[in-house]
Amino acid sequence: MTRRIGVLAVQGDFLEHLNMLTALNVKALPVRLPRDLIDVDSLIIPGGESTTITRLMETFGLVEPIKNFARQGNPVWGTCAGMIVAAKNVPDLDRKPLGLIDINVQRNAFGRQIDSFQTDIMITGLKNKPFPAIFIRAPIIQKVNSNVTILSQLDDGTIIAAQHNNVLVTAFHPELTTDTRVHELFLGLVNVER
Ligand code: GLN
Repeated sequence: MTRRIGVLAVQGDFLEHLNMLTALNVKALPVRLPRDLIDVDSLIIPGGESTTITRLMETFGLVEPIKNFARQGNPVWGTCAGMIVAAKNVPDLDRKPLGLIDINVQRNAFGRQIDSFQTDIMITGLKNKPFPAIFIRAPIIQKVNSNVTILSQLDDGTIIAAQHNNVLVTAFHPELTTDTRVHELFLGLVNVER
């Protein structure tokens, strides 16, 4: 079956994800309305502004459909703001996030836009070659709960990537690099046993 990856396209850098998936020869579709979820078998929630994304998801009636989509075992990956939106506990978000993965997230944990940075990190599953991670007003994972697996930490122990079954989250932006390995890691989940 052709894998079709959906990218939530209400706000943020969804185009960069769509372009990277196209470069990987994967059929990628923007998801703007609940009915768009019918045509995809996994979903990426991009970086952007989590307050805006959560508001627009409510406006377009996407909240329950995305929760159901994830509950059914379809892979979902949140990058940066997408990680905030996918998390269970985000005290400094003014709306309830989707709660797809049991982690506590702190927004803007590295400071303002001017404090954005790029650094090489190691990610479980990506062999031993460092990944160039871009952090833009990035969140961090303060705590993983239940059976959530930590996939990457900064040198000081800060958790920046995690996974629980079909849900993957990264605090950084692989779609803004030319390194396709995290996208390929996510594509590997599409065939995960359900
Ligand atoms: N600071 C943004 C937020 O809290 C996330 C930034 C990003 O996605 N690059 O939503």
